[in-house]
Amino acid sequence: MPQNKIQFQHGMSLSELINQYGTEEKCEASLQKARWPTGFVCPACGQREHSRFLADGHWYWQCSHCRTQTTVRSGTLFHASRLPLTQWFQAIYLVTQNKNNLSTLSLKRHLGVAYSTAWRVKHKLLEAMRQREARRLLNGVVFADDAVLGGEHAGKPGRGSENKAPFMAAVELDDNGFPQHVRFDPIADYKGTTFAAWAKRALHPDSHLVTDGCTSFNAAGAQVAAHGAIIVGNKKSSDLEPFRWVNTFISNAKTAITGTYHHFDFDKYRHRYLAEAQYRVNRRFDLASLVGRLVHACANTTPCPERWLRLAETEAS
Ligand SMILES: [Zn+2]
Repeated sequence: MPQNKIQFQHGMSLSELINQYGTEEKCEASLQKARWPTGFVCPACGQREHSRFLADGHWYWQCSHCRTQTTVRSGTLFHASRLPLTQWFQAIYLVTQNKNNLSTLSLKRHLGVAYSTAWRVKHKLLEAMRQREARRLLNGVVFADDAVLGGEHAGKPGRGSENKAPFMAAVELDDNGFPQHVRFDPIADYKGTTFAAWAKRALHPDSHLVTDGCTSFNAAGAQVAAHGAIIVGNKKSSDLEPFRWVNTFISNAKTAITGTYHHFDFDKYRHRYLAEAQYRVNRRFDLASLVGRLVHACANTTPCPERWLRLAETEAS
């Protein structure tokens, strides 16, 4: 069973984390390599010639051409943070190696920091994950179904309800019918125009979309090469074999998110919580490399001020 191999893989142990990222120097070296893999590049003018000096315990790179001074953190997700990199890396470890999403309270306890600090760290990491995943286009045969956070599927005529947070789940299958990549996207409603906009954002134009018979999916299907609708009648699509994988991932994502967050939270920040679940699923084959890969993503993500992080999805987009 391929799923068992995934569940029982080694991942990264706590002692491996300490061994690789246990000191500020090791973390800084790792961040430096992720940010400038071929050596320093001035963020202001793009030149490589530079000098280095130590001030207030931090290394500064000074461009020989424009004299701009840079630390390895400035301009990245870690910009302006006073938290040691070792704690940032511990947070990256916890957020990637956990099966479920990670609550702010749990992160606060693990790191031994204030709740507000834990909130900022977590949402910045989630934002790096979201930006990474936003560009992903599913291709080939893609099964999609809508779902809600905070409640069961409401049934075909009255999909969703006012106090539920709807989202679209889609799974790309390989030639053997095994799942490869997934997307979980918040949706505002169940209109055809909404589904069409989702398809443009989430699917490669050459993909073949398979859905249930909900008419709004026709608008999504019109955006891609082919669309097949399986009429489910009185049954729920989750009872049908072709929808097995998409419903397994929906169920896992709901468990990962609703078991961790309160409703008011996932209603406002579901774009990030869904991305957190999606990021982990799409990298599930190699758990051990996840820490290094998220460090790389953070090194290449621009700073995210807290004011902006606190905007709901519709305000931020
Ligand atoms: Zn320069």
